[in-house]
Amino acid sequence: MRKKIVAGNWKMNKTLQEGVALATELKEMLEAEKPNCEVVICTPFIHLATVAELTKDSVIAVGAENCADKASGAYTGEVSAAMVKSTGAEYVILGHSERREYYRETPEILKAKVDLALENGLKIIFCIGESLDEREKGVQETVCRTELEGSVFHLTPEQWKQIVIAYEPIWAIGTGKTASAEQAEEIHAFIRKCVAEVYGAEVAEETSILYGGSCKASNAPELFAKPDIDGGLIGGASLKAPDFKGIIDAWKK
Ligand code: PEP
Repeated sequence: MRKKIVAGNWKMNKTLQEGVALATELKEMLEAEKPNCEVVICTPFIHLATVAELTKDSVIAVGAENCADKASGAYTGEVSAAMVKSTGAEYVILGHSERREYYRETPEILKAKVDLALENGLKIIFCIGESLDEREKGVQETVCRTELEGSVFHLTPEQWKQIVIAYEPIWAIGTGKTASAEQAEEIHAFIRKCVAEVYGAEVAEETSILYGGSCKASNAPELFAKPDIDGGLIGGASLKAPDFKGIIDAWKK
């Protein structure tokens, strides 16, 4: 059985103190009521060590939102995969559309990041998804396949076990527009088919594919009920513990 996961992406939000308060509140809520899925919170770099320590003996795993495409050295302002790992973090988000768009992260750069993250023992939440223009042209499948081919399909089947895919239609991120459960299921099934073509049906069945894009407590149950949707990558609704918990609870319905 593949893992069901609800992962938060805090993006560039929360001071250290606010982040600690949010993680503490969530930890207490999940201690009071055990989740029915794996829970991950991906935080800015500065929160990682503190939040990882705070959640050490809890059900919450911690991840970064990025890592460098170089192993170490004179790259002022960058944070390496080894540094992320040393904080106690288990995951890293790579390929998010905001990084592809605003920081010009190309498939080659992402491939280098993927390789370094895996070399350093991190699990990867790898994001793919089409823009509104691409959806209107009907090329969403080609976009998703190309993004997979460009940065992760070179991995060995053994390495692939550390990969979680997040399908995030760019037009649904932070816009309040969610893909319908049917639209999301259609592309999740397609992504699973692509994985099966490269790694075989058994590996594809074990691959967790998350949906991201204005997911909230009200739409999560319908999305998560679809056979190929294994959870969510959550932006805005991960910034308040009760909202995030509401999405986690969708796995109980
Ligand atoms: C995201 O950026 O990963 C995301 C899914 O954001 P939101 O939930 O705010 O649309």
